Amino acid sequence: MRRRALEYAVVLLVAAGLLGAGFAIAGGSGDSGSTKIATIRPTGVGLPRVGMHGTVGAGDIVSPLRQYHDSGHYESDLEKVGSKAEAYLDRRVAKLRKKARQRCRARGVSPCPKPKLAMVLDIDETSLSNYADLAATDFTDATAALTTSLFAATSPAIDPTLDLFGEARSRGVAVFFITGRPDLDVVRDRTEANLTSAGYAGWKELVLKPADAEGTLSYKSGARATIEDDGYRIVLNVGDQDSDLKGGYADKAYKLPNPFYFISN
Ligand SMILES: [Mg+2]
Repeated sequence: MRRRALEYAVVLLVAAGLLGAGFAIAGGSGDSGSTKIATIRPTGVGLPRVGMHGTVGAGDIVSPLRQYHDSGHYESDLEKVGSKAEAYLDRRVAKLRKKARQRCRARGVSPCPKPKLAMVLDIDETSLSNYADLAATDFTDATAALTTSLFAATSPAIDPTLDLFGEARSRGVAVFFITGRPDLDVVRDRTEANLTSAGYAGWKELVLKPADAEGTLSYKSGARATIEDDGYRIVLNVGDQDSDLKGGYADKAYKLPNPFYFISN
């Protein structure tokens, strides 16, 4: 009984924390730090574009959103961005390792220490898909949908991201998940269980958002700064929201399409 009450309190906390200012599709742009962000315009008719003026609730465009998903355009857009990110990762890692070897040779350092390379991934709509729960609310309540998905812990992987994860691991790149999910034990447990069941294995760290974090953008860029302070170079950062990617501390960022909800900075 006590566990029930605790879980209910946690659900409320999680729901309050997951989506900053709701899930309208709204305009706005800010400083991306030194990181170039590459993205794609979602394929399909009638989809508003994040960054345009005005505000449209995702619940107002249920039919185009369902069509975007069911037609396979969502999946193919994810694949397009994912394959570009993977090609970039391969090129970048090879280049940085070559440079490190050249520096070692020039300085007579042997054995040559490998540079500590890292990749950062967001979780929701980047590593895991909550589409089923989002569609079940007709895209009118992303907070409830994401909370349901979090506790069910059965969300499937976003396949191109899982491929990218495998590529990074096979190349010895450390993978850090940085998520807006709140820093609570039960959330950590469910999230780790879901990542594992979706096929992710061997990540370096799962960073959850502390209760006293100010905004998503500053929390996430601060978490990346901490990773770089630990001696890593973040070669790639992948997310589905601008707030995952702006603020620097990555050589390059790739933004996956997500017309289903918007999280403010
Ligand atoms: Mg996300």
